[in-house]
Amino acid sequence: MSRMPSIFLSHGAPTFAVEPGRLGPLLLALGARLPRPKAVVVISPHWMTREVAVSAAERPETIHDFGGFPAALYDLRYMASGAPMLASQIVAALRDAEIPATLDARRGLDHGAWVPLMHLYPQANVPVVQVSMPVATMHDGGGARAWALGQALAPLADEGVLIVGSGSLTHNLRDFQNAFHDGGTGFGYVRAFADWFANHLAAGDVDALLDYRRRAPEAARAQPSEEHLLPLFVALGAGGPGAQARRFHSGIDDYVIAMDAYAFHPSPGERQ
Ligand code: ZN
Repeated sequence: MSRMPSIFLSHGAPTFAVEPGRLGPLLLALGARLPRPKAVVVISPHWMTREVAVSAAERPETIHDFGGFPAALYDLRYMASGAPMLASQIVAALRDAEIPATLDARRGLDHGAWVPLMHLYPQANVPVVQVSMPVATMHDGGGARAWALGQALAPLADEGVLIVGSGSLTHNLRDFQNAFHDGGTGFGYVRAFADWFANHLAAGDVDALLDYRRRAPEAARAQPSEEHLLPLFVALGAGGPGAQARRFHSGIDDYVIAMDAYAFHPSPGERQ
């Protein structure tokens, strides 16, 4: 079996489940084009724990962890099965990498996981395991810890597991509110920040990427609390050494939410 790429995608608002926009069809096409994975491992900022937790439910429930949206969203269910054996394997791999991790037999899938999966695998025919974001990654240097988490997961890609980091390339909710009320001018930083990432990901400049908070334009404004960016570093680490980043979407929703999505393909020099 050839090595799977890893993916970072921006999951947007929960309404993405029923409003595919431009990214939805791209995810659908990607899911159809890739070899069918043995399972999907997804990391989303909507499940944060003190140490890494790994979902091990046989039938993960669909968690509607949002308020004030149309009723139809609360009726949606994503019926993929879990993969408890894989979950145990992940906990062991993380502990081998000296990343404390535990199983969670009850946890379901939050909207950061199931909403994009409805586009990627709409038939819900690929088992899903969710891995939490450790709260400890939220301090300065969080990118490095998220990258290390991805590196610890990377060997799974050799076994046909698709690793998906789900977040948002920019995520300033105050600007989101302001744009909603006042219109969408004055947010040029969104494109500048997203393109800085595109350039440094294309160059494979991991040192610069991990130091994005100092080097990227208006980083603190683009990512005030950075939890929605950290899944990008997980996906980058999961792509393996020298992975080649391919940006397959670069839209902006609601003036301020960069919806960029990437696939990280194994380096040509890496053994397949
Ligand atoms: Zn989110």
